[in-house]
Amino acid sequence: LISLSDIHHTYSGTAQAVPALRGVSIDIDPGEFVAIIGPSGSGKSTLLNIIGTLEKPSQGRYLFDNRDVTTIPERDLARLRATRIGFVFQNFNLIDHLTVYQNIELGLRYRRDHLRGRRELVMEAMDRVGMGHRADHLPRQLSGGQQQRCAIARAIVGQPAIVLADEPTGNLDSRNAAQTLGILKELNDKGTTLIIVTHALSQADQASRTIEMHDGRIHLSSRRLS
Ligand code: ATP
Ligand code: MG
Repeated sequence: LISLSDIHHTYSGTAQAVPALRGVSIDIDPGEFVAIIGPSGSGKSTLLNIIGTLEKPSQGRYLFDNRDVTTIPERDLARLRATRIGFVFQNFNLIDHLTVYQNIELGLRYRRDHLRGRRELVMEAMDRVGMGHRADHLPRQLSGGQQQRCAIARAIVGQPAIVLADEPTGNLDSRNAAQTLGILKELNDKGTTLIIVTHALSQADQASRTIEMHDGRIHLSSRRLS
């Protein structure tokens, strides 16, 4: 599904160029649950954003579905991103003035399903995260955990092959964190490839593979024996 080889990434545009990734190679198969851990500034978010095609690597080869991502024109890339990849962020990133239903429907913006098909997909995603009863509420009327569940529904409504989550439980208390991780794991059990960045070792333990970043490199990669 994903194949990165010798990826380097440097943020330029500032007075001092910052090398964020310094030679990362990794292959991820469909259905894997990968946890990325490591200290602050080690390149976790950069790696996730490159995998999500939000950021183009300054060097190295990236294949998604065996297609070389670096040669795909931006318009096609935006479509690939919107249809194949779901994103979940630490701060939820919901649109304030849109309802739960409308926020989730944004996840279908690239699909041409007719209205009824779209409605069914949104309802199904809402039910899956237990938010079916809050369709007409605004994000500010929800708890943090509910907002994150709504964000997960938006990420999965288009039935992406892969879900990328950058510290999805970083702003949640332990109960909501556990519930959020549970939803993501359930998704993975049903076949969606899952990659999360997390500081919680208890979450990393549940992944099928853990990757530890250090100074822009993969310091350690371990698979769970099961
Ligand atoms: P954290 O755990 O704090 O989220 P991280 O492991 O996700 O850290 P990254 O955000 O990937 O780390 O950052 C890696 C390096 O790249 C850091 O030195 C950071 O300062 C730098 N960096 C990240 N984003 C940018 C940017 N947009 N412009 C310049 N430098 C950046
Ligand atoms: Mg980060």
